[in-house]
Amino acid sequence: MVRELSYDIVIVGAGPAGSSAAFAAAKLGHRVALLEREEAVAQTVRTSGVTWMDSIREFEIPESCYNPVKNYGFCSPNNEVVISSDTPMAAVLDVRKTYRWLAEKAQKQEAELYTNTTVTEASRDSNGITLNTTSNKEEIIFHAKIVIDASGFQTIVAKALGLVTQWKRFGAGAEYEVEVENADSDTWWLMVGQDYSPAGYAWIFPLGGNIVRIGVGVGKPESPVDPTIRLEEIIEKKLGPISKLGKIRQIEFHYGLIPNDGLSRKTVYDNLILVGDTAGMANPLVLEGIRYAIRFGRIAGETAANALLRGNLSEKALMSYEENWKKAIQSKINSASKVQSRWIGLSDEQWDKELDVIKELSIDEFLDFIKADFSIGSIVKLALNHPKLAVRQLFTIVRGSK
Ligand SMILES: Cc1cc2nc3c(=O)[nH]c(=O)nc-3n(C[C@H](O)[C@H](O)[C@H](O)COP(=O)(O)OP(=O)(O)OC[C@H]3O[C@@H](n4cnc5c(N)ncnc54)[C@H](O)[C@@H]3O)c2cc1C
Repeated sequence: MVRELSYDIVIVGAGPAGSSAAFAAAKLGHRVALLEREEAVAQTVRTSGVTWMDSIREFEIPESCYNPVKNYGFCSPNNEVVISSDTPMAAVLDVRKTYRWLAEKAQKQEAELYTNTTVTEASRDSNGITLNTTSNKEEIIFHAKIVIDASGFQTIVAKALGLVTQWKRFGAGAEYEVEVENADSDTWWLMVGQDYSPAGYAWIFPLGGNIVRIGVGVGKPESPVDPTIRLEEIIEKKLGPISKLGKIRQIEFHYGLIPNDGLSRKTVYDNLILVGDTAGMANPLVLEGIRYAIRFGRIAGETAANALLRGNLSEKALMSYEENWKKAIQSKINSASKVQSRWIGLSDEQWDKELDVIKELSIDEFLDFIKADFSIGSIVKLALNHPKLAVRQLFTIVRGSK
């Protein structure tokens, strides 16, 4: 017999967006179910986990969950720059620990976590949305007054309801977590140029001790290169900063896809909210989305909970969520997309020159740039008044004028 369960709010996907939404919604007193297809939260890691110390402080992520970073290395085939901050401004997350901490926070607010539970179909009914799932080999039907689709790249609910189609532009990334002889736990490396990735970049991110993550990201459909094959090749050839790591012992392989279609999706419908990668919320310059997933996951959860309290779950009643997150990041993402378009076409020689421009940035300018955290005002200021011509030219492109 098929079991049927009813909840106020059902959230699909216990990644950072889903767990954060479940935390916020359950905190406001609603019955919340959080569905995750894997046997445990973050059983499979699909991200390299770099984020920023200001976000870590904002979300109160425990110290045991991350390794702080204060030297930001950038290298091209014949150039390199290391920009440093006095105190760490970035961090590499222990992804499993952090995602589980987020899910536990939701459970402490009495959100009910169903692991090994895969949503296979979704349909509308007069009371909201119905989700068909396979849960530990059993079929369970979940009835929800409102659903938050936080299923990441898959976007299972909105797709099953026929509201969205598959992302066309996306990044594919492959990464090894490895133990190395010589790790510098304060320093990360972004590595650019054709040998690393013809449309994207490679990286070394330190996790503390002798552990680092070495990865390759490739933009699709711009390049047919398989990031896993390219990763094996750059490790084999010991390209650039990889040569300094000494002996490398593989611990774990990670692979993932991240949308790169800009903010093309509508993110609210009657009885449904999209958040995190499902909504395309990522900084397109380096394709990082964890902080947006957590921040807007919480806002999605609060919006759903408050709409339920008011008894109105229409698209119009939920629209404040979309207005809120777009106001916060839309212009930043659009500016970063312009830099990404410039970067994706650079030859090795042009990358060598681009690094000369990056060398001229102060630490604050560099971090705002990489984080895509610039306001329109600061872009205009940099484009008009920066003492270095090359920086003025770069920010003229970001501003979108000739
Ligand atoms: C290679 C790579 C490297 C990256 N590096 C960084 C980085 O350094 N820093 C950064 O900030 N971001 C990075 N990102 C992006 C970041 O991982 C995402 O932006 C972030 O994980 C989005 O969180 P989310 O909760 O929206 O989705 P996800 O983390 O993808 O979570 C979705 C969850 O939904 C579950 N799910 C999917 N389908 C179903 C279903 N049918 N039923 C039930 N559950 C389901 C999945 O198992 C998963 O747990 C990277 C991405 C990739 C691919």
